[in-house]
Amino acid sequence: MTFKLEPGELIRADNFIDGRWVPAASGARFAVTNPATGEVITNVADSDRADARAASDAAARAFPAWRDALPKERAAILHRWHALILEHADVLGELISLEQGKPLAEGRGEVAYGASYVAWFADEATRIYGDIIPQQQRGKRMTAVKEPVGIVAAITPWNFPLAMIARKIAPALAAGCTVVAKPAEDTPLTALALVLLAHEAGVPPGVLNLITASRERAVPAVADWLEDSRVRKITFTGSTPVGKYLARESAATLKKLSLELGGNAPFIVFDDADLDAAVTGLLVAKFRNGGQTCVCPNRVYVQAGVYERFADLLSQRVAALKVAPATDPAAQIGPMINVRALDKIVRHVDDAVSHGARVLTGGKRLPELGPHYFEPTVLADANADMELCGEETFGPVVPLFRFEDEAEAIQAANDTPFGLASYFYSQDVRRIDRVSRQLEAGIVGINEGALSSEAAPFGGVKESGYGREGSKYGLDDYLSIKYHCQGGL
Ligand code: NAD
Repeated sequence: MTFKLEPGELIRADNFIDGRWVPAASGARFAVTNPATGEVITNVADSDRADARAASDAAARAFPAWRDALPKERAAILHRWHALILEHADVLGELISLEQGKPLAEGRGEVAYGASYVAWFADEATRIYGDIIPQQQRGKRMTAVKEPVGIVAAITPWNFPLAMIARKIAPALAAGCTVVAKPAEDTPLTALALVLLAHEAGVPPGVLNLITASRERAVPAVADWLEDSRVRKITFTGSTPVGKYLARESAATLKKLSLELGGNAPFIVFDDADLDAAVTGLLVAKFRNGGQTCVCPNRVYVQAGVYERFADLLSQRVAALKVAPATDPAAQIGPMINVRALDKIVRHVDDAVSHGARVLTGGKRLPELGPHYFEPTVLADANADMELCGEETFGPVVPLFRFEDEAEAIQAANDTPFGLASYFYSQDVRRIDRVSRQLEAGIVGINEGALSSEAAPFGGVKESGYGREGSKYGLDDYLSIKYHCQGGL
């Protein structure tokens, strides 16, 4: 590859519509800030209905040719995009850390992780098979083929500014869909950079369009896509209330939906677990991205016989975590995304303490580091009356619940409307089989804290949503099955 951008060149501030960079029709802009300092990085387009419509018009024009491109032509473009993302991994990683706050090593890790979906779906593009249905009547041939659903609207959250959007755009383009996208208002810059590289990789004009908007303007802008019968699918990652709103509002045009929503993951430590491995697994699962991931353990259930020992081991390791800005190479926990997020964490910790939780380590803001920092925290004696039991804290806080037996742990783990990830540690093979079958979740980590992979199906059950990203199943959400019945043979 010869195309290589310098860091500054990767920062774009306009919408990308029909292969061109254009400001919002109204000329409005909003500020993107660095969560570590609160300083403005740049001002990006604040789009409205008119911009959303321009994007969907471009996607509609581009659809027939992209649908009809050979799968290997689409695959080649996606492979070039993958290569360009990796070639810019350092600068993209820095951009992620700049606008989202995660430590630089994690920012770079996210680039590799997000890119892996692009490579995966580039390959999958060439493997979209149909079926020849065994003949049922003489003179008739029946086949089932898969076709792209049409225009896809992709709406993404701020916690993984690159991976979340790559996980949607890559399968959509691989399937032959065209895309209109809106990234989260806190972190639009990485998404814009990704689109710039897609364009350089040869994604034709109109096939991939991206608009940015403040939260206020995002509502009418996205509503335009929800009402537009040409937009056939919404793929959304974000909170459950917004997911429900999108499902309601797209009912009038009966769109296909993929909803990757909030979680409230249980993490169970049985008394037969390898405790050191469980502590390490919990640290990986809980403290990545400062606890701001949808698969973060939110409730940690520890069996009574090992409770105090586990609490001790964990608190020592958590107390040693380094909280610092992304730019500090030793940083393990960065700032929270914004003041709203920080306030929720503080509220959960205060509420837990007022209901009897003991702070084993952490528990306070760190204003000396910047406006959005919070200490990594372990709380003992958590119970179901605490707010943090019912709702994702989305921060570096581990509440430890005590349980006596397996049935109690499973009952408590499943006692939530959510069902995204779940985890447990045990060395008993029979228990592993029993517990993994009974946990109500789309993803189960068994003696493992790092679950996500482009080769595996990622998604939830219950109010954590539906649809799967990654794996051979990840394309299905972007395809419709068409049945051909040919007679007169
Ligand atoms: P959010 O739901 O507030 O926002 C997500 C996106 O939706 C943003 O782009 C936002 O601008 C947009 N949006 C919000 N309200 C809208 C409306 N009325 N109309 C149109 N668009 C609207 O979520 P967030 O705070 O950005 O992200 C955190 C949430 O995402 C957490 O609940 C987390 O669990 C969830 N999440 C889930 C997964 C998963 O795969 N299941 C992955 C990451 C994050």
